[in-house]
Amino acid sequence: MSEIVLRGVGRAFGATQAVQPTDFTFPDGSVTCLLGPSGCGKTTLMRMIAGLDTPTGGRILFDGRDVTGKPARDRDVAMVFQYPVMYRTLSVAENVELALRDDRRLSAAGRRARVDEVLEVMQLQDRRAAGIDALDVGTRQRVAVARAVARDCAVILFDEPTTNVEVHAKTQLIRAFKQFRARLRQTIIYVTHDQTEAMTLADRIALMRDGAITQCDAPHALYDRPESAFGGWFLGNPGMNFLEPRPQGGVARFDGFPSPFRLPDGDPEGLQLGIRPERILVGPAGALPVPAQVLRRAITVGGQYLLLLRAGSATLRARTPPRAPFAPGDTVSIECPISHAAFFRHGQRLVAQ
Ligand code: ATP
Repeated sequence: MSEIVLRGVGRAFGATQAVQPTDFTFPDGSVTCLLGPSGCGKTTLMRMIAGLDTPTGGRILFDGRDVTGKPARDRDVAMVFQYPVMYRTLSVAENVELALRDDRRLSAAGRRARVDEVLEVMQLQDRRAAGIDALDVGTRQRVAVARAVARDCAVILFDEPTTNVEVHAKTQLIRAFKQFRARLRQTIIYVTHDQTEAMTLADRIALMRDGAITQCDAPHALYDRPESAFGGWFLGNPGMNFLEPRPQGGVARFDGFPSPFRLPDGDPEGLQLGIRPERILVGPAGALPVPAQVLRRAITVGGQYLLLLRAGSATLRARTPPRAPFAPGDTVSIECPISHAAFFRHGQRLVAQ
């Protein structure tokens, strides 16, 4: 078991500050996903925790022990990479057993029992004798996870392990991941730019942008209450709609909303109102408070429609139930429930309107 604490940990590459000085705690036994767009510093942060890179500032503590500058082998961490390194001439079971070679606590029989256990957890029993070359990328990645899990380290780090895995194999890999989580309680840090994966796997998501962790929360809390417009935009497919105010004295109108709002702090400067596409109700013309036009329609996985709507001067994306009877050119009506909308000022959420 291991709690990982970052105290002012940062990394610069010349003039590029890949990771800003960061204070952060990964609680013992938690699964934290580092999520963010390409280049935001996820991998750099993880490599420093792994001991594959050294911070240019700050300290890294494992259970209170300062490991800054210590190599990976002194940290009791296992890693799973995007491109797993494996012995192609050996079988699945032999590859997993090899990961245990240096574990002096285990007898030969203990090693074999451990291999059997993790092959079962990772749903690989029927492939135990297969050669690595005979496996598809997804199964190979499950072997990589099995090797990491077998070592029984306090910390397992995953660096985008599903990037090259096709969608069905990815589902199987995620299922296996959840199964091993149900049985083993290592501290896990999982780097991904795939929000669905992060939402499925994480206890907490640490959302990164420009080298900084901007918010860390449980997946649904992060989705429902993003603290920044960036979080509202990045999470969701598509992300939040953002509306600009039209100030009128001490109130402002937002196209899409029928009534004016009292301006937070009486100030329209830098203000935006955000609402998620699935929160916007769409009905036939006249049924709901605000008239709108359907500009475009796209069908999404699961058969829902994603509508691009024009309401006044605002353009909004709305999700409808499967096969809703709305098509481009139609006049419809919408309702944006204020209880599901949030104000942001200069990109930061305003508390309690
Ligand atoms: P991706 O999802 O694309 O892997 P990331 O979020 O993991 O991105 P990093 O790979 O950590 O981001 O990179 C963060 C920043 O640091 C980027 O601007 C990158 O160009 C820079 N960077 C990373 N490694 C190095 C390096 N060895 N030398 C110089 N710059 C680097």
